Parts: sequence; structure tokens; C-alpha cells
Amino acid sequence: MRHLTAGQHALLEAELQQRLAQLDRRLAEHHGGLSRAEHAREVLQQDGDDAPQREGERELDMALSDRETAELGAVSDALARLRDGRYGLCADCEAEIPFDRLRAEPWALRCVACESGRERLAGRAA
Ligand SMILES: [Zn+2]
Repeated sequence: MRHLTAGQHALLEAELQQRLAQLDRRLAEHHGGLSRAEHAREVLQQDGDDAPQREGERELDMALSDRETAELGAVSDALARLRDGRYGLCADCEAEIPFDRLRAEPWALRCVACESGRERLAGRAA
């Protein structure tokens, strides 16, 4: 993270911590069921304009939970990398990931070139 200033570093760490807390809360809602009503209200507010997919809602819920679980993993991984000094370096080629990219996606693991290379590979495989 030599390419990041102390201020940029602190900002990204704060964003990661905040995202972690947010995901934790949402996953607790998904699994705990205690704030089910709260969650339903949230869903209604989010797509109040196009409500024709009540049936798919449960599956959508599951998919959302899966994605959030994966994101939670990525965020805690990024925080671990912050602690041991590997943060901000591409996991594949060790290039420095620019601050602008990290600001948009603080848990980014790879530089843009490696990331799009992987996406091309994934696209071909599918
Ligand atoms: Zn790379």
C-alpha cells in the first residue's frame, strides 16, 4: 500500500469497516427472521414501482443472501490484507491498484487488467 497516503488508507479502512457492519446486519436479518417485517418493508420501498414478482421474492432473497455472504468474505479478506500490508496490491500480478478503483470498490482483489481477463475467461467457460 505504498502508493496510498495515510489519509486514503484510513478512508478505505473506514469504508470497509462500515460495509462489514452493514452486511453483518443484513445477514442477521436474513437468517434471524426477527426483523422480517422490517426487511419486507425495505423490499417494498426498494421496488415499489415494479411489484409483479412476489413469487420470485423468496429466491431473490436467497440469492441476495448468497451474494452478501460472498461480499462479506471479500470485505473481511480486504481488512485482513490491510492489517498485514498486502492491501491494494493485485492478487494476480501484484500491481498497485489505483486509489480511484479502491474507492469505488474497497474490497477489490485485482487490478483492472487482471479482473477483466478473469471475466473474459469466465464468460468463455459459461
Ligand atoms: Zn493484476
